[in-house]
Amino acid sequence: MKTLVRRHPFPRSSSMPLGSAIQPSVAYASESPDALDAQYEGRASGYTYAREGHPNADLLAARIDWLEGVEGGIVTGSGMAAVTAALLGLLKAGDHLLGGDQLYGRSLRLMNEDLPRLGIATSLADPTDAAAFARAIRPETRAVLIEVVSNPTLRVADLEGIAALCKAHGLILMIDNTFTTPRALRAVDHGADVVIHSVTKLLAGHSDVTLGWVAARDPELQAAIRVFAVTTGMTASPYDCWLAERGLFTFELRYDRAAQTAAHLADVLAAEPGVARVIYPLRPDHPDHNRAAGLLGERGGNMLSFEIAGGRDAANALVRAAPEIAFAPTLGDIGTTLSHPASSSHRGLSPEARAAQGISEGFFRLSVGVEDAELLADDLTRAIRAATGS
Ligand SMILES: *Cc1c(COP(=O)(O)O)cnc(C)c1O
Repeated sequence: MKTLVRRHPFPRSSSMPLGSAIQPSVAYASESPDALDAQYEGRASGYTYAREGHPNADLLAARIDWLEGVEGGIVTGSGMAAVTAALLGLLKAGDHLLGGDQLYGRSLRLMNEDLPRLGIATSLADPTDAAAFARAIRPETRAVLIEVVSNPTLRVADLEGIAALCKAHGLILMIDNTFTTPRALRAVDHGADVVIHSVTKLLAGHSDVTLGWVAARDPELQAAIRVFAVTTGMTASPYDCWLAERGLFTFELRYDRAAQTAAHLADVLAAEPGVARVIYPLRPDHPDHNRAAGLLGERGGNMLSFEIAGGRDAANALVRAAPEIAFAPTLGDIGTTLSHPASSSHRGLSPEARAAQGISEGFFRLSVGVEDAELLADDLTRAIRAATGS
């Protein structure tokens, strides 16, 4: 029997499904060229081709837009795609971009290696010091890219100072809000013109998708970012968007639980003789404690860092003594993960450059998950004692 490819419509239900549908279709069939015109000219809504947009991406974007208090954000295939779309969608050869000196590793690489190759000058400054940022501004400076809480030393940027500088000089302030999340800080409330997320981390929360999101407050900037992302194919898979959208339902619960546990663990670890230093933004011994309290309120986040004495051998021993805590270079998962910047995110730096940031062989970063706080505290203290002989 010969037939044309026959597509059956998805069965409709007069009752509303609670779960979101997945729409994996790449292409959408239209009724006529006039109908296509209407769609392209904005007189009718709908989709044409999945790289240009699809329902699952729009649904996820709308949910994150709502959390961040913006409109028109787009979802990209990774957090780095969101960073790249913002930078290359808005900057041109001859512009200068000023960034925080402890940005995410790949963002730093983009700034140090790739943007200069394309004629975009870049430089870095310490975001905890607005005066250092002011000195680094050039006549060609067009934008500033910062994270509020740095990785892995958890220093807190002088957001108010930098936002005021950007306003005074007419610079686009881009904030990568991945670590802080809108639960602790809505970036647009603090002067951000462009907000960026690695949705891979806390928003999706289950380490099963890589996704990003970016929004600009100004519709013209947003359109430029969107066109660049569509042209360069930064589109996310419908299935990934669907998973992330589902993950978002528990985002606040996961965040609050993890942040509460992280604050508790920070105090527990600080009392351990084998721990030389604990870094948690809301602890009174944090170098930016007042600023952290002002920006984040009670929500110090799920990330904490600590340092043990004893170099690489002690670091190996600690990881081996805590087999229940995943040793993995990511963050924001429902499960607690431990990472060792010297051998992962910061391995590309010289030992001197790491030392300048305070990252020794005994330095660990903990992304706290939703597990029982006391179980985590017991596991960690046992492992630290075993590793340091304390
Ligand atoms: C992980 C991360 C990124 C990159 O996100 P991907 O989804 O891995 O591409 C960017 N910024 C920050 C702060 C991150 O933690």
